[in-house]
Amino acid sequence: MASDGILKTGLFWFTNDLRVDDNPALAKAAAEVDKLICIYCAAPISTFHDHQAPGKLSPIRQQFLFDSLTDLEKALAEQGQQLAVEFKSPGDAIPEYITQYNISHIYSSHNAGEYEQKIWNTLRKRYSMIQFSQIDTHTLFDRSQLPFAMEKLPESFSKFRRLVSDIAVREELGKPSYLPSSCLSAQSNWQNTWERHNFHSQPIENQLFKGGSQAARQHLQNYFKGRSASTYKETRNGLDEHSNGVNFSTKFSPWLSNGSLSARQIVCHLQQYESEVEANESTYWIYFELLWREYFQWYAHRHKANLFKFQGIKNSNPTTSFYAERFQKWCQGNTPYPIVNACMNQLNATGYMSNRGRQLVASCFVHELNLDWRYGAAYMEQQLVDYDVASNWGNWQYLAGVGADPRGHRRFDLDKQTKIYDPKGLFINHWGGDQHLEALDSRDIVDWPI
Ligand code: FAD
Repeated sequence: MASDGILKTGLFWFTNDLRVDDNPALAKAAAEVDKLICIYCAAPISTFHDHQAPGKLSPIRQQFLFDSLTDLEKALAEQGQQLAVEFKSPGDAIPEYITQYNISHIYSSHNAGEYEQKIWNTLRKRYSMIQFSQIDTHTLFDRSQLPFAMEKLPESFSKFRRLVSDIAVREELGKPSYLPSSCLSAQSNWQNTWERHNFHSQPIENQLFKGGSQAARQHLQNYFKGRSASTYKETRNGLDEHSNGVNFSTKFSPWLSNGSLSARQIVCHLQQYESEVEANESTYWIYFELLWREYFQWYAHRHKANLFKFQGIKNSNPTTSFYAERFQKWCQGNTPYPIVNACMNQLNATGYMSNRGRQLVASCFVHELNLDWRYGAAYMEQQLVDYDVASNWGNWQYLAGVGADPRGHRRFDLDKQTKIYDPKGLFINHWGGDQHLEALDSRDIVDWPI
């Protein structure tokens, strides 16, 4: 109870920080209020192209989210808390809690998503008597640690990396020692209504990743128990580990994307590996790639709605367009390019694709199919189990030549790439990339487009 005798009731709005460990926003809430309500809003699944609202989620993404929320609920329950899951927009749900529970404090993580940030700002304006706190939990650094103002974010990754090279990543926090009790009377039983809201929750064939902090921690420990980190730089560009059983890349991204795992937790384990096992160029490279992620996070905060614009952060529109048939063929893995088809088949079946694969399919989308990059980014938003607004849209802008790439034009030679990364055709064969090779455009007998 506050010294003035007034009960402080907090509301914690979980977004992409679905963890209790190393969650400085939750730790702040725990330290400041007497009662706490924890909510997550699984917003109604909306239309495909509307980036003012969350995109459609594939069944794999839905299942991953379901598992992540179930795990979060369990972790909260271990500390006497509850999780309420609302199937409505946070802009509708939060005001109802404010009125019903006399909320005095609201907490959330800083979110690079335009949609979440807009709702946050609207709520702040509308409820000036409530204390709002937003904390950086999705990034390695706090914004206060950055040696530049947000509008001065360097235009290229290399400059950014130089500027942040001396910043120390702070130690990971454990669980808060205590969480204030909830003022919700009953368990929300959200699992029972999950399917009624058209969300998928049945086990999925080919599910590579189990959602939730527990699975994330397990994966983190296993990864650093082996020696994969010592060879990461040589293997990270590989197309698929399933062809020979090697951990080509870390596979941290699914849990990082919804915050069941924090980037800081990874760096702490990485540093431990470096001090106890080995520090080499490969181990540094894991940090280097996390800095790429970091750059795109701040890039999204800096450029806001421009992250989704056709012209990106440049001044002129690309010359690409939208062709329904080509787009559909790309999504379904039926293009004339076996390597692209194999990658898309892998994405559709598992929700995952390697970084190299993503570069190849995005380059094909823009340069071979001449398609408007935003449709490709939107499709990945729907399908990728590790979808992250900043990394996805930032990388797509980069490859479409409208983003942070100083060279501005990255076209991958698909034949050459196939020879380098799939010389024996194992990956293409495994994912059936050469089974449905189709011409890009259907034409009638006298060569008119159909
Ligand atoms: P690793 O190679 O093991 O890298 C370790 C971590 O570093 C990753 O988990 C990730 O957090 C970060 N990282 C690595 N490469 C990048 C990169 N290019 N940009 C940003 N962060 C990086 N990543 C996502 O997390 N979500 C996305 O929605 C996403 N969309 C992408 C779309 C395109 C077109 C491209 C080219 C890349 C995209 N990436 C995205 C980046 C990258 O492909 C994935 O992070 C990576 O493949 C995930 O596998 P991993 O964890 O094994 O990566």
